[in-house]
Amino acid sequence: MNQEYEGAEIAPPFKGNCHRCSKETDSFTMSWFSTESICLDCSDEENNHADIKLAKDVELAHVKVGNFNYPGIGWPGKDNRVSLDISALYPPTVLPIDEE
Ligand SMILES: [Zn+2]
Repeated sequence: MNQEYEGAEIAPPFKGNCHRCSKETDSFTMSWFSTESICLDCSDEENNHADIKLAKDVELAHVKVGNFNYPGIGWPGKDNRVSLDISALYPPTVLPIDEE
C-alpha cells in the first residue's frame, strides 16, 4: 500500500548512537516525532517540546485505525514548531473494524 506522507523519514536501526545528536548511548527510546531511536537527553527535549501533545495525539489516532507503522509527524527541532498542516497529519479515513 502506497501512502502519501510528508512527515518523518524512516530511520535506520539503532546502532549505539543517538539518531538525533549522534551521542553514543546505551539507553535509548523511540521518538514520538519520528522513527528515530534517541538518547534520554533528546527524549527529555521531546517531552518539553511544545508539540509533544500533538505528536502523541497523531500517533495514537493512527494506531486507533490500525496504522501501526506510522512514522511520526517529524521532529521540527528543539526550538521550532511542527509547521505542516496539522489536519493532514491525522488518518484520512477511519477504517472499518473487522469483527470477523
Ligand atoms: Zn541524543
